[in-house]
Amino acid sequence: MEKCYLLFGSNLGDKDEIFAKACLLINNRCGRVVEVSAAYESEPWGFEAEEWFLNRVIVMETALSPEELLRHLLDIEAELGRVRHPDIQGYTSRTADLDILYYGSHVIRSERLTVPHPRLHLRRFALLPMCEVTPDWVHPLLNMTQTELLQCCPDNSIVREIPTETHEKP
Ligand code: ATP
Ligand code: MG
Ligand code: MG
Repeated sequence: MEKCYLLFGSNLGDKDEIFAKACLLINNRCGRVVEVSAAYESEPWGFEAEEWFLNRVIVMETALSPEELLRHLLDIEAELGRVRHPDIQGYTSRTADLDILYYGSHVIRSERLTVPHPRLHLRRFALLPMCEVTPDWVHPLLNMTQTELLQCCPDNSIVREIPTETHEKP
C-alpha cells in the first residue's frame, strides 16, 4: 500500500458535485480515500479564464501501481466530462483534473508519468492544501517540507480557502 496525494481541480460545471463524484469513483476503483483538504478557490494559473478553480487535495492509500493509478484517474476525468482539445495548445477550462502530486516517496519518470508532479512546487493552489493536510511531508527530490516549499514558492496568484460551513467534507 502506498499513500498518495492527488490534486483535484475544476473550473467548469458543478465543481462541488464533480469533486464528490471524483472521490466516490477513486474510492471504488483506486483505493481508500482517507482524507480530503478543505476547498480552495484559485485564479486560473498559466491561462486566462473567467471561471476560477476549485482545488482540493485527496489523500488516499492504493495498491495500484503508479501507471495503473494514472490510467484510472484519466478514465475518471473523462467520465466526469473532461473534454480534451488536441488542437488547442496549453491549458483550457476543465470539469475535472486529477493529478498525482506524490506516490509515497517514489520518484517516477516515464513517458506518461512524472512524480512528484513536476510543477507542484511552483503552484500555490497545490501547496496551500498540501500544507493543510501534511505540512511536514518531504518532497523526495527537493528535500523540503510542504511548508518550506510554500515559503519559497515564487507564485503569487490568488488562492483562498472557502469557509468550511459551505463545504461538507464527503
Ligand atoms: P499540469 O500537469 O501542468 O497540471 P494538466 O493537469 O492540465 O497540466 P493533463 O492534460 O491533465 O495536464 O495531463 C496530460 C498528461 O500528463 C497526462 O496524460 C499524463 O500522462 C501526464 N502526467 C505526467 N505526470 C503526471 C502526474 N504526476 N499526474 C497526472 N498526469 C501526469
Ligand atoms: Mg493539472
Ligand atoms: Mg492533469
